[in-house]
Amino acid sequence: MATQVATTTAYADLGLIIAGEWVEAGDRKTSPVINPATEETIGQLPHATTADLDRALAAAERGFKQWRAVFPDQRGKILKKAAELMRARQEEIARIATIESGKRIGETRIETMMSANIFEWYAEEGRRAYGRVLPQRAPGTRLAVIKEPVGPVAAFAPWNFPLGNPARKIGAALGAGCSCILKPAEETPASALAVARCLMEAGLPKDVLSIVFGTPAEISTHLLASPIIRKISFTGSIPVGKHLMKLAAEGMKRTTMELGGHAPVLVFDDVNVEQVLDASVGAKYRNAGQVCVSPTRFYVHEKIYNEFVEGFVARAKALPVGDGLDEKNQMGPLVHARRLAAIEGLIQDARQCGAHVKAGGTRLRSPGYFYAPTVLADVPNKARIMNEEPFGPVAVINSFSDFDSVIEQANRLPYGLAAFAFTGSAHRAKLLGEVLEAGMVGVNTFAISVPESPFGGVKESGHGSEEGIEGLDACLVTKFVSEA
Ligand code: NAD
Repeated sequence: MATQVATTTAYADLGLIIAGEWVEAGDRKTSPVINPATEETIGQLPHATTADLDRALAAAERGFKQWRAVFPDQRGKILKKAAELMRARQEEIARIATIESGKRIGETRIETMMSANIFEWYAEEGRRAYGRVLPQRAPGTRLAVIKEPVGPVAAFAPWNFPLGNPARKIGAALGAGCSCILKPAEETPASALAVARCLMEAGLPKDVLSIVFGTPAEISTHLLASPIIRKISFTGSIPVGKHLMKLAAEGMKRTTMELGGHAPVLVFDDVNVEQVLDASVGAKYRNAGQVCVSPTRFYVHEKIYNEFVEGFVARAKALPVGDGLDEKNQMGPLVHARRLAAIEGLIQDARQCGAHVKAGGTRLRSPGYFYAPTVLADVPNKARIMNEEPFGPVAVINSFSDFDSVIEQANRLPYGLAAFAFTGSAHRAKLLGEVLEAGMVGVNTFAISVPESPFGGVKESGHGSEEGIEGLDACLVTKFVSEA
C-alpha cells in the first residue's frame, strides 16, 4: 500500500534540468515515485510542460552549436571529470538507484562504476572520430570524408539500468559533439538526475543537456515532431520502438533502437554442470530478471537435463530475496505493480499449457513487488512465455537432443538481442558464434557488455549499437568534401 512520503534527505530531490538549470515542481503536474521494496511514495516527480519542452529544444539547438565547436580533447576532459565524480559518489548514487529501482545494492554499485567507465570510453573515443582522405583523380584536388555530429539527440531511457541507460545515451551524444535531451524513466528519475549532476559539476556547458519527465508518449511526440531533433535513441519494448520509428520517419531522423530480447542458453553435455549452474542462476536473477540480455530460455542436453533442473531449483529456492538495500539479499523486487501482474499472467498461462513449476511461481511478501525466483520445466512452445520477453525472475528450462534442432529452437523467435551457449568443444564453440541469430553471443560466459564492445540486437530486437566505436558512429554523420 502506498502510504507515507519519506523525507527527501532519505532519497533525493526531484526536478527537471532544463538548459542546465534545476527546475522545481512549482505548479506543474506531478506523479509519485514509489520504492518498489516498500510500496512507499518517496517523492513527487514534476512533469515537464509543453513550454518546458520547448525551452529544452531551444537549449539543445544552442547547445549543439556551442558543443560541436569544443575540441574533442576538451569535451573528453569534461566527460572524464564526470566519471571521476561518479566514482567518488558511488555509494550515494548506488543507494538512490536501489531505492527507486529495487535492484540490489551490490548491482547498483557495479552499475555506477560501469556508467563512469562508459563516460571515460566516450571521452577517449570522441578523439578518434576520424575521416579519411581519398586518392586523387586529378591533380590539385582534395577528396575528404569527414565525420560530423548528427545534431541534437532525443533519448529515452528505461528503468532497468537507471544509471547505465542514461550514461550510454548521454555519453554517445556528448562524445560525438551532440547536445542531448534525455527522458529517463519516471520510475527511476533520481538516478538519471545524479548522473546529470556529475556532468554539470564537471563543467558541461548549460545548454548541452536537459533532463525532462512526464507522460512518455506526450514527450516523445513533442520532441520528435521538432525539426531541431536529428536523432532518437530508445531502449524499451518492441511495440514502443516501432511507434517511435514511425514518428522519426516523418522527419527522417536517425534512430538507435534497443528493444529487448528472449535470450536462449544452450547447455551441451560436455560442460562442468555445477560451474554452468552457478553462472546461470547469478545471471538469471540479476535485477530480478528485468534485463534485456537476461538468459530466459535454457535448452539443456537431455543427458544432463535432470541434474541441471535439480541444481537450478535448489539454487533458486536458496536465493535470499528482499529489500535491495540489505546486503544479504541477492534479489530485490520487480520495479512496479504492472510487471508483477505481467509475470503472474505469464506463469498462469504456462501452467495451463502444461509447464511444470519447479520453484517459485508465486508472489512473495507484501508490501513490496516481490516475486519468487521461479523455474519452469518442460514448457511447450505454445505457452506465451516461450514467445514473449518475460522480463522477470523466471527461468524456462527445456531439453534437447541434437545440435540442429536446438539451433532451430534458439532462432525461432523474432527477437535477436543476446544468445548464450556452454560447451567444452572448441569446434562447437566456434560454430555457435556463427549460427546463433543475435547481436551478441556469449560462449561459455554471460559477460557480453564492456564499453569497448557494441551492444545491440538484430531482427525485431532493434538496430544500431550503443558503446564500442559503433556507439559513437551512431551519433555521427558522414560528409564528403571535394576540393578542386
Ligand atoms: P512500457 O512499454 O510502458 O515502458 C518501457 C519503457 O518505454 C519505459 O522507460 C517508458 O518510459 C518508455 N516508453 C513507453 N512508451 C513510450 C513512448 N510512447 N515514448 C517514449 N518512451 C516510451 O513497459 P514497462 O511495463 O515499463 O516495461 C515492460 C516492458 O518493456 C518489458 O516487458 C520489456 O519488454 C520492455 N523493456 C525493455 C527494456 C530493455 O532494456 N530493452 C527495458 C525496460 C523495459
